[in-house]
Amino acid sequence: MDIRFDGRVAIVTGSGIGLGRSHALGLAERGAKVVINDLGVSTDGQGASSEAAEAVVAEIKAMGGEAIAHGADVSNEEQVVDMVAKTMEAFGRIDIVVNNAGILRDKTFSKMTMADFRKVVDVHLIGSANVTHACWPIMREQGYGRVVLTSSASGLYGNFGQSNYGAAKAAMMGMMNVLHLEGARDDIRVNCLAPTAATRMTESLMPPEALELLKPETITPGLLYLVSEDAPSRVIMSAGAGCFAQTRVYETPGILLEGEEITPENVAAQFDQLNDGEGQEELTDAFAQTKKYARKAAEAAGLT
Ligand code: NAD
Repeated sequence: MDIRFDGRVAIVTGSGIGLGRSHALGLAERGAKVVINDLGVSTDGQGASSEAAEAVVAEIKAMGGEAIAHGADVSNEEQVVDMVAKTMEAFGRIDIVVNNAGILRDKTFSKMTMADFRKVVDVHLIGSANVTHACWPIMREQGYGRVVLTSSASGLYGNFGQSNYGAAKAAMMGMMNVLHLEGARDDIRVNCLAPTAATRMTESLMPPEALELLKPETITPGLLYLVSEDAPSRVIMSAGAGCFAQTRVYETPGILLEGEEITPENVAAQFDQLNDGEGQEELTDAFAQTKKYARKAAEAAGLT
């Protein structure tokens, strides 16, 4: 089965360089019309340039594809709305949104200013919400949409010095969980990609041999599946160096304390049992958890 995007229109944010560029080229090679969004900033979000985005547009045109550049700052709602309007003018629909633009402002929490915390959350979380929100009514109207939110192992597992970035990247999972539920009836599928790649964000962290293995092109095939016709929904795909895995959140069966037994001492005494992974499950939504607890307590109280 060939994965193709003929007739599909994609917006890829931050696609002038790095992972975004690789995703945009991958989509274009398989037939998508692509909006190359990039503000052209440094890794810490300074400056602005349209050069990289225009170079990717030229690359796509040279291979016979269609693309336009847009320099919207994803954290600026007005600029994002303009980008979506220009996309509709140029291509008439929006099928795929790849939220990829990002910056870093690493510091330990004690040294981090709230301005740096807010800036990183603004670009990653508010930026992804701005772009997805502006495209959402179009996707609903079409009865078709594929959205990817770029997360990170930093958000899923933690990384020293990245409280701002980790918080924003974990928020992608929360947004995915809700948009997955809200988008389902209009065939809008929403997933997260948690990449680990050799880009300017990571080039100083690893030796050249490792960087060679971690090229963005080893991740893009996973992204292409996540935005394809037969895409799954509510998947956190972790990817790097040709490895693809799924990261999941599970809840243990837990313990039940009743009446007078509900004390901190009893929670402490049964903490090992509460942590026991035997029979753990992935819950479908928040209410599934409420139902689980109410059912257990009711059964124990002989109310069912
Ligand atoms: P990169 O720095 O190479 O590219 C990021 C691009 O985003 C740049 O072109 C930049 O100009 C653009 N950008 C930044 N702020 C923007 C804004 N406000 N509006 C529009 N464009 C903006 O980074 P990368 O390594 O390719 O990372 C891409 C995404 O993957 C990011 O969200 C990053 O957090 C995530 N990620 C990367 C890694 C990795 O190992 N490289 C790991 C985990 C997650």
